[in-house]
Amino acid sequence: MAGFDIKIVQKMANLLRARFPYIYITTWEEERAVEFIKETVSDETTIKTVRKVYQWSQSRGFQDEDGRVRNNTASPAQAIDFIAKNGENAIFILKDFHVYFGIDHRPVDFDVVRRLRDILPDLKYAETMKNVIFVSPRLVIPEDMQKEISIFDFPLPNENEIRDRLDEMLRENSALQVLLDDEGKQQLAKSALGLTLQEAENAFARAIVTRGCLDKESLKIIFEEKNQVIKKTGILEFIQSDLSVEDIGGLENLKKWLQKRNNSWSSSAKKYNIPSPKGVLITGVPGCGKSLTAKAMSAMWTLPLLKLDLGKIFSGLVGSSEENMRRALSTAEAIAPSILWVDEIEKGLSGVTGSNGDSGTSSRVFGTFLTWMQEKDAPVFVVATANNIQGLPPELLRKGRFDEIFFVDLPTRRERKEIFDLHLKRRLNNDYIGQNLTLNDDLLNRLAEQTEGFVGAEVEQAVISALYEAFFNNRPLLERDLSESIVNTVPLSVTQKEQILALRQWANVRAVAATAREDLQEYISDEKPSDEEDVKASRGGRNLDF
Ligand code: ADP
Repeated sequence: MAGFDIKIVQKMANLLRARFPYIYITTWEEERAVEFIKETVSDETTIKTVRKVYQWSQSRGFQDEDGRVRNNTASPAQAIDFIAKNGENAIFILKDFHVYFGIDHRPVDFDVVRRLRDILPDLKYAETMKNVIFVSPRLVIPEDMQKEISIFDFPLPNENEIRDRLDEMLRENSALQVLLDDEGKQQLAKSALGLTLQEAENAFARAIVTRGCLDKESLKIIFEEKNQVIKKTGILEFIQSDLSVEDIGGLENLKKWLQKRNNSWSSSAKKYNIPSPKGVLITGVPGCGKSLTAKAMSAMWTLPLLKLDLGKIFSGLVGSSEENMRRALSTAEAIAPSILWVDEIEKGLSGVTGSNGDSGTSSRVFGTFLTWMQEKDAPVFVVATANNIQGLPPELLRKGRFDEIFFVDLPTRRERKEIFDLHLKRRLNNDYIGQNLTLNDDLLNRLAEQTEGFVGAEVEQAVISALYEAFFNNRPLLERDLSESIVNTVPLSVTQKEQILALRQWANVRAVAATAREDLQEYISDEKPSDEEDVKASRGGRNLDF
């Protein structure tokens, strides 16, 4: 096994050389993690002082590189003693030590924690170079050792590692019919990115069994399998949507900003020395197209879109939050370039501001996310959407986290026209239903005029209700149906006027209007000065053009 990313090897080597005493790797791929450590400490150019590798498990105690078991090292106390007394340049891998750090109903073993802290000087100042690496499928760190243990994010396998595993499988099954050339096999490996090596192997095996061979169709099976695996985490989901930028009515400023950043990870963008875009925060009035925009980005940028459910991470329903957050981020990195959509980011982060009493864990998980956003090199673009920005911690909004913060307000008249046009065109798609309606500028103008203060979702709903009316009366759609359903709608801007005005006040100092300046003419013209208190006459967000 080989093919580890040199940057990762270098990163681990740096920690070891800087004498970080305790390093923690959370992974399901124990064997691969051990291989990685062995590769790192045997490479003289990066590690300088080559080290031996000892592995410990509760069932066997310590084993050296040749697999020889060291007697009387099976208990954690004996294992720690062995480390303290060892006088070699060595790495000590402790597997599943998290069970002593307090999990489920098993309390922290303070004797073990104390012993680990006792030997700190042995690790830091011994004449020989010694480090301990915990390798566990779960991330559990005792409160008293937070400062001494460094978490190392061990990435999921890269394309080459997966390709090696695929080639290995094909060598073992030499009778298998492979109807793929070299590039086809590489594509297959690429499609399994985001999986562990074992999961990738399972996916390949399923593809082989299902089709009796490996061919182009296998790609679909692997993708399905990957979808299942990712969904099982409970917090991430692949979004496959056929929505495109043409499905978004208005929001021209936001669309232009996004379009300008398309392909910014390509090699041709390198010539311009532009930093990779980090992400965008889209806030605003509910039902105005924030999620729609996130979904349309996948097609706009032809990149895979992953949706992260922060609420579930914090709910505790899916196990340790921090571990889940890290796993989600490493999945997004493994399939990079990719888009990570954090929907309703405020819901997940409400604990950070201390309102639900769980600020310890929440702050840590949030911290993990912020640090990752700040430091990530992998091309993962974050789209965060938020309806209620009051709950957002200020750290998230600080310059440099997101490239831009957009505010999506109630659609303007011209935007409503466009939204009606989109939703009517989509549904009047046969000769019967639209025969009594001419979908022209005049009709759209009238509809837009009648729907001042409507959000996009209400415009869509008005079209749907009108269609129900026509269906009920067993006839094609009439303009009257639309007008009646509009009159019968009490828009959100009436029921939630105060909330919308508060959102705007917030946005005026922090965010940029998603609507283009020319679409705002009706609000900023001299004849109609905007009234701060009137939800229909005022607007939120600064008017910058992109
Ligand atoms: P939110 O801003 O709350 O995320 P959504 O994007 O989920 O709102 O909007 C709900 C639905 O309303 C969309 O799926 C879409 O059908 C319709 N809609 C809202 N805004 C627009 C818009 N600007 N253009 C077209 N459709 C829209």
